Amino acid sequence: MVTKGLPQLRMVDTPNGPITYTLTRKSVKNLNLRVDARGEIMVSVPLRCSVKQADSFVQEKSGWILAAIRRQDRRQAEPLPPVSREECARLLGEALVRVYPLVEPCGVAFPSLKLRALKSQWGNCHWAQGYITLNTALARCPEALRDYVALHELVHFLHHDHGPGFYARMDALMPDWRQRRKTLKQYSGALEGRAKGSEHT
Ligand SMILES: [Zn+2]
Repeated sequence: MVTKGLPQLRMVDTPNGPITYTLTRKSVKNLNLRVDARGEIMVSVPLRCSVKQADSFVQEKSGWILAAIRRQDRRQAEPLPPVSREECARLLGEALVRVYPLVEPCGVAFPSLKLRALKSQWGNCHWAQGYITLNTALARCPEALRDYVALHELVHFLHHDHGPGFYARMDALMPDWRQRRKTLKQYSGALEGRAKGSEHT
């Protein structure tokens, strides 16, 4: 049986690959499924429903779920209004200060920060010179996304490429970074020249 009231994170294998979903037991009549704005899969089931029934439900609906997630990935978010140069410097400086403590214990020195209106990158890391560049367009993205890019660039001081070590470190320091990266793609309209890039060096 599902633990009463408390949402439970489940992972099931489906014909379309593994799917992780949040299962909640409620006083509802039917099994309900929705993909929320963050692309997370929420399933609510009647109180008497077993975990196995819930898993089978998700397996049956896996095609629909993946199509819904793909639709969301393509959706574009409206960037926040433009800000002044000073405000941009403050917002991005604050992002760096917020996430730096995550890499400080790994021996990363606090870097210099340069701001540029890059066309196709959200940021990059000049690890040999000890500075990172953040795209001024990040000032028009939500705070969680500014933090994600700042951390991505900081982690490049430890792992220069995008090898398994890099991703393992991101997983350890910011477990939801993949979700943030996905959301960031919806803000590509904030980039000057609307380049589609959302990857960083
Ligand atoms: Zn990178």
